[in-house]
Amino acid sequence: MTLSIVPYGHPALRAKGRRIENIDARIRALANEMLETMYAAEGVGLAAQQVGLPVQLCVIDVKGVKDRPSTLRIADQVVEIAEHMPLVLINPEIEPFGKPETGVEGCLSFPGVRSDVTRPAGVLVRAQSLDGEMLEFEAGGLLARAIQHEHDHLHGILFIDRVSAAERERIEAEILDGADRV
Ligand code: ZN
Repeated sequence: MTLSIVPYGHPALRAKGRRIENIDARIRALANEMLETMYAAEGVGLAAQQVGLPVQLCVIDVKGVKDRPSTLRIADQVVEIAEHMPLVLINPEIEPFGKPETGVEGCLSFPGVRSDVTRPAGVLVRAQSLDGEMLEFEAGGLLARAIQHEHDHLHGILFIDRVSAAERERIEAEILDGADRV
């Protein structure tokens, strides 16, 4: 079953996610429905806030993106991305590192909107898996960007908060313009 993705303006997008204490059947079902929803919408990431539930859960899958490389290191070993996708991250904590890089981002809560966003090139991630296992890994490239974007969502932060005031005005005008046409 796919879930409805809430658009920009919905209060859930500004809510900090509650920590998940019990990874129960309800959370497992939610994660699976979020994956299905993300694939149906052709996104590379989705946070629980985007389906209206402010909890610390996000899903990511970058393996289908060929033109924007990602890297993944587990216990200092470079591993094959495809073997570790999709990622379901519960209560993730991140430490971004490396020099800032600018790249284009979109968001399933902002249909049709794209903007350049500058973020650190890499990220160290600690999170729980759907099995309750502790995950620890380092990501680079598109995966590092996607994780930082989703981690922001879990804290009520949106990519438009990370662009210039002028760019944000342009995006908000574009959204209003789109709304007028509907
Ligand atoms: Zn997003």
